[in-house]
This record gives sequence, structure tokens and C-alpha cells, in this order.
Amino acid sequence: MFGYHGKLLNVNLTTGEINDLPVPEQIAKDYLGGCGLSAHLIYPFVKAGMDPFGGDNPLVFAVGPYVGTPIPMVSRSSVCGVSPQTGYWGEATTGGIFPFRLKASGYDGIFITGKAQKPVYLAVIDGKAELRDASHLWGKDSYATQEILKKEINERGLSVSCIGKGGENLVKFAGVMNDEGRAAGRTGLGALMGSKKLKAVAVTGTKTVPVADEAKLREMSRQIREIMISRRASMMEYGTLGYMETGHVFGDTPSRYFTRGAFPVHRVSATAFRRNYTIETYACFGCPTMCGRHLKHFSKKLDSIDGPEYETAGVFGPLSWNFDTDSIVLANHFCNLHGIDTISAGVTIAYAMYLSEQGVLTEKKAGMKIEWGDGKTILKLLDLIVKREGIGDLLAEGTLGLARALGADPETVAAVKGLEVPMHDPRSTTGMALTYATGSRGACHLRGDYYTVDLGVRVPEYGIAPFDRFKAEGKAVMVAKHQNFKDLYDSITMCKFANATPTQMADLLNAVTGWSTTPADLLTIGERSMNIKRAISNKLGVNRSHDHMPRITIAPVPEGSTAGKSPDMDTLLKEYYEVRRWDWDTGKPKKEKLVELGLADVASDLWQ
Ligand code: SF4
Repeated sequence: MFGYHGKLLNVNLTTGEINDLPVPEQIAKDYLGGCGLSAHLIYPFVKAGMDPFGGDNPLVFAVGPYVGTPIPMVSRSSVCGVSPQTGYWGEATTGGIFPFRLKASGYDGIFITGKAQKPVYLAVIDGKAELRDASHLWGKDSYATQEILKKEINERGLSVSCIGKGGENLVKFAGVMNDEGRAAGRTGLGALMGSKKLKAVAVTGTKTVPVADEAKLREMSRQIREIMISRRASMMEYGTLGYMETGHVFGDTPSRYFTRGAFPVHRVSATAFRRNYTIETYACFGCPTMCGRHLKHFSKKLDSIDGPEYETAGVFGPLSWNFDTDSIVLANHFCNLHGIDTISAGVTIAYAMYLSEQGVLTEKKAGMKIEWGDGKTILKLLDLIVKREGIGDLLAEGTLGLARALGADPETVAAVKGLEVPMHDPRSTTGMALTYATGSRGACHLRGDYYTVDLGVRVPEYGIAPFDRFKAEGKAVMVAKHQNFKDLYDSITMCKFANATPTQMADLLNAVTGWSTTPADLLTIGERSMNIKRAISNKLGVNRSHDHMPRITIAPVPEGSTAGKSPDMDTLLKEYYEVRRWDWDTGKPKKEKLVELGLADVASDLWQ
């Protein structure tokens, strides 16, 4: 098989057994790798009512066929499992150099089941894997863990993926960190890793995979790299933070816990960060776009610190009504250090501010004053969350857990299926509202960044084109296709900022694998992945009622470009279910749809 090692490393933490898990070529063709392949492998383990922290919940790291080749912007890997945060399908992706090192270790991924008795880490060096004692690492932050293991293992090119205290303390939105500040942040897979007492996975090696047409692949990669370089100016200059002012113009950046439509954007814009700090760019391995940034000479203690992305600046900034950039930077750093998802952490803290204002979370219950816009309070709450102390223990359960504990109105919980809504306001684009409501992992702005389409981006090969961003009728067909397309990125494992066309993606895949995949086939692979993930969540309890945008996120706001607007969710969802051929009564993909996608086994299991 070209482009693959054809196997995952199979690790049972309970028994300590380690062996190979073969991946037949037909399975690789059907799912490619990353999240799609992980969903296929995890499906047989999923049982109604299962405990995400049970040893039978697999944790899967996986890369796709592009990884290890000269194609730019493909150092991406996924982490998947049943989410401790939502109880449904969970996935997250990350960049850095870890994905390349994982493939160089000799595997297309790592499939982990069971639970270790005491803290361990997994070392996979050039095809040899070993579980080792990690007692000395337990309690260490994610940066220190990476540093210690690099020194201790002392192998060239070693990359470490690990959890911080967030994962150890089972914070529901703990993420998995690698290459300093790169994060597989969402759906709490760091907590799953913590529940398995797996502190880290350290990988490196020299294993390569053959590709079918090396000369063609090199030439295509060169051409694509040149296109990426010609488009990168804004991302290189500002990173994703460059979107803050645009987001504000379109009412797409939520503020004051989704209750306002405008805020003093000049105080937290990319320009403000540029003005306030010395910025240095960096990139994931093999990426010419370089969206990452470090802030130099931040303080006496922190000479270099990770610069916040747009989402992070959004949650700790306008969403919390905070316009102090220093506290936003420190909040981002703290989350990275201790391995918690910035989006869920920030939305949960903003919710605590909202509930305090509403009198639901009193000063007595919280044990402290929680007020809008207080950067010091944000930092204190983050510390309490990671330690699970005081009010932090409740906040560590996320917005839904906090609401349940306080008896708050569920319509004030800014989350879908338990995953907090990111920083693209569902009132700004109906396509994004529908994407959130139906996303395979809950409210997600990546497996379908439809706001980009509603604001002008098109994918002509798939007939995806923008029209009235506030209109509901006729949007579902394009949203579903766009979700399939973006899901594909996480199976082939390519950065979504690559903005490759479907034809380019298919040509690259064929040059790597020697297959004859068409752009239409790729869309079907994305659709298959979307549906198997949906089936997993269905088995775990998801039905149509879970495809719901809470009132706080769609009730009209008084100002800004979305003033008075609210997406027509009924129309959007009805059309979507028809397009997807999902059953309106149960929320499951219809049997014939699953069979059409080659998922006959899933169909029989789901509809028995
Ligand atoms: S654009 Fe950013 S996230 Fe994507 S590969 Fe490049 S550096 Fe990594």
C-alpha cells in the first residue's frame, strides 16, 4: 500500500499488551485516516450508556495519507474517542510536528484501550513501542512534561503529546498538548487520557512510506506551496486574530456571553496586539502560511509566550467583556500550560459572569465576586478550574454542568450537545447556526466553517456558493456538503487553512496512493465519516432534540449588523434532515442512506 504503513499501534493499558492493528487497503480507501478512520475503529466499542471514563472507551491518535509527504500544510493529526465532556462522539485535531513524527515512528496511528494502574507514558521510537513509568511526570504542566521527556528519551526529532493538570484532574474540557502550545483542544480528550493514567505519548523515527508517483507529487506540492505563499500575507501578519475586526463588522464575534452585538473592537483587534507586543511568527512543520505567533519579551518571567488565536481572544476578550490584552495573553498561556480547551474554558467563565449578573450564581455560592470584564477574575477562575477547587470544581464541568448544578435555565447554556459554542455568532450567518446545531462533535466551527461561505467563499466544484447570510431556505443542501468537505480534511489530515480545491486534494491523494479517487468520491468519504460519527452519537443517546441552538445564542441582540436577527432553525433543520436523509423522529441516519454509504453493518446495528 502506498502512502500508509497499513497499521496502527494497538496498546492495552490494563494488560500492558502491545501489538499491531492492521488497516486493510479497502478501509483506508473508505475512511482515509484521521477522524474518519478513528470513527470506524471506535464504532464497535460504543455501547448505550457507556462511561466515557471506562477502560473500554478507546483513545485513538491517527494521521492521514498526506502526512510524511512533501505536500505543504499536512502536519495534522487527530485524537478521538467518546467524549468525557459531551458523552457523545469526540474528536480534536492538532498540528506542530507531532503528526510527522508519529508517522515516522512507523504507524498510521495509535489505538489505546484499558487503563493503567499508575501513571505511564508510551514511547514509540522507530517501530519499537514501550510503556514506561510516568510517576515523575504526574503533576507537571504540559511544557515541563515535553521538556523532561525530550531530555530523558534523548532521541533525535522526538515530539511529545501530553496532558497537563487539566487532564489529570479530569477537567471535562481538558485537551491534549504537543509541540509546546499546539492543542487537540476540544471535547475533553485530555480528560480521557487522564482517566487512563496516560501522561504522554512520545514519538519519533525514520520510517517512511512509499508514494505511488514521487515526481508528480513533488511537482504538485511545489505548485501548491507557491499558491499558499502568494495567499499568506494576512495570516502571516496577524494569524487568525486578523479576523477580529471583520468578525465585529459582520456581528460574527459574540460578546458579553452572546447578549450583545457590538463592543470596543479596537482594544482587542489584531492591530491592538501588534501595537502592544513584539510578535514573532512560527509554523507547523512544512507550512508556508505560518499562522502561529509568539509574543516576545512579554514580561520578566515570560520572555516568550504563545500569542492567542482569534477564538481564544474572543472568549477571554469580548465574550467576557474584557478588553485587557495582557490578561487575554496570560489566560491563553495558562490554558496551554495546563492543557485545557480555551474555547470551553472561556465560554464557561463568561457564563459564570452572566449567571452572577442574573443573581443565579451568588458571591456566597461562588466564594468570590465574579464580574464582567475582570481579567484577574478570569485568571483566578482558570486556576481554580485546573485544580478543581471551590467554584472551579463546578466550572470544570463546563457550561452544561454548571447550569445543572445551579438549576439555571438550560436555554442559557451556550453549548450544543454539551460542547460550548465557538466565536462565530449563529445570528450572523444561518449556515453557521445550522452547522453548530448538527455538528458531529457538537458546536464546532471547524467541521464546517460555513461562516466563510456565507461571507463570500465558494467551492464551485461542489456547487457551494454564498447567498443571503440571513436566509434559511435553500441553505441546508450546501451546509451538508460543506460539512462533508470539511470533515474530509480531518480524515486526509490537512490544515483547513490550506483551502485546497477538491480536484487538488484528489490529485494529491492519487499521486500518494496510486488510487483513482475523484472529487466526488472525496465528498462521499466525508459524508460516510459524518454519518458513522452521527451513528456513534445516536447509540449514545443523541436524537433530533439535541440538534438545538439554545435561546441565548440566537435571541436577537440590540445592536451591530445582526440587530434584530435570529436564524429560522425550524426551516434550516427540516431541510437539513431531508438532504441528509436522517429520520425526523429519531434523528438517526436512515437505513437506506447508511447502506448507500457502504455502512450496512452500522445500519443493521443502529436500526435493530
Ligand atoms: S496555517 Fe497555521 S495551523 Fe495551519 S498548518 Fe500552517 S501554521 Fe499550522
